[in-house]
Amino acid sequence: MKPFVFHMPVRVIFGAGRVAELRAAIPAPLRRILIVTDPGLAKDGSALRAVGQALDGRAWEVFDEVDENPTLEPVERGAAQARAFGAEAVVGLGGGSPMDAAKGIALLGTNDGTLAEYLDGRRPERPPLPIIAVPTTSGTGSEVTPYAVFTDVEALTKRALSDPGLFPVLSVIDPALTYSMPEALVVSTGLDALTHAVEAYLSTEAFPVNDRIALEAIETVLAFLPAARRRDRPAMDAMAYASMLGGIAITHASTILPHIMGYPLTVFHRVPHGLASAVLLPEFLRYLGRQSTVPEKVEHLARMLAPSGGLEAFLEHLGVSCRLRTYGVTPRDIPLFVPRVIVKGDVAITPASITEEVIAAIYTAAL
Ligand code: NAP
Ligand code: FE
Repeated sequence: MKPFVFHMPVRVIFGAGRVAELRAAIPAPLRRILIVTDPGLAKDGSALRAVGQALDGRAWEVFDEVDENPTLEPVERGAAQARAFGAEAVVGLGGGSPMDAAKGIALLGTNDGTLAEYLDGRRPERPPLPIIAVPTTSGTGSEVTPYAVFTDVEALTKRALSDPGLFPVLSVIDPALTYSMPEALVVSTGLDALTHAVEAYLSTEAFPVNDRIALEAIETVLAFLPAARRRDRPAMDAMAYASMLGGIAITHASTILPHIMGYPLTVFHRVPHGLASAVLLPEFLRYLGRQSTVPEKVEHLARMLAPSGGLEAFLEHLGVSCRLRTYGVTPRDIPLFVPRVIVKGDVAITPASITEEVIAAIYTAAL
């Protein structure tokens, strides 16, 4: 059997209405907490109020300047606030953007240097501040991963940190916090969970127990995302579960080509993160159908998707076009995108021969 390491050290408290349990679950010595969130959630107030109430009796402050697909600069500012406040832990409250920003702030809260240096490969000398994740979207899985993804506005690319210290110590996944998501956000984040699971299942790093988790995530998304889009609450609860499963799956087997091909769609055309990889998935699977080292897995996925009429039909049924032109992409973009994709490490764990020509061909076929 293939050797593997399975490590998922996050204490997860899952269930609608359970955000109040933060109070008892946060380790007692952690008395000074920085809540990291985005301006919309800070303004809307209900999720922040619930977290603030759970922190009653502790000292806490809010940093609410996280932007979507977080850039480096707000993270530096948040870290300065964490240091000035003497934060002993950070709570990432929101979608993947605030959760990832909280991870960056936690790292810089205890380590010298800039976020850019760590993205360039510097290793943290000290463990980051303890991270507590409270997701309000269902898709990124950041609540259970050791990853944090940032947008480098100078290089016009997205770059990821990966470090065991970035696993949250605690995640309270309270699906009730996701009920305020508008339909389009339910769909785009839900498709992030789907692509995480599909990519981790196909990755050359995959191993059997992780495959079972990925397949459970895929089945859950296929069964519940259409109803979640109509804001059916039990279906939204199921999507929060699928997001967590997808996060566990990429923790062990990573994402592969569709995610890194999706990054330029977000950076250059502002395609929401979840959609950006999902819209490339049909052409990617078509390519793997012709040439891959895992033909049995590609066939298995096709069988799972058949009752929905295939992946493209599933996406179209959710109102998602797989044609890149819909998002403003033109053939002239492709030479801009390809060099940003080929340099990423995840190319090597994609189970097929991937060259610049192949990447360009997948983009072109998806136009
Ligand atoms: P997001 O960027 O965190 O949030 C998108 C928008 O959703 C925000 O502008 C926010 O609007 C709104 N929102 C959040 N929760 C809401 C709620 N409950 N009700 C209504 N609106 C809500 O989106 P995301 O897709 O969750 O995260 C994407 C980021 O995660 C990307 O940067 C991606 O690269 C990263 N990611 C990380 C990992 C990982 O393992 N670390 C994995 C996958 C993706 P308001 O401003 O109005 O609040
Ligand atoms: Fe993702």
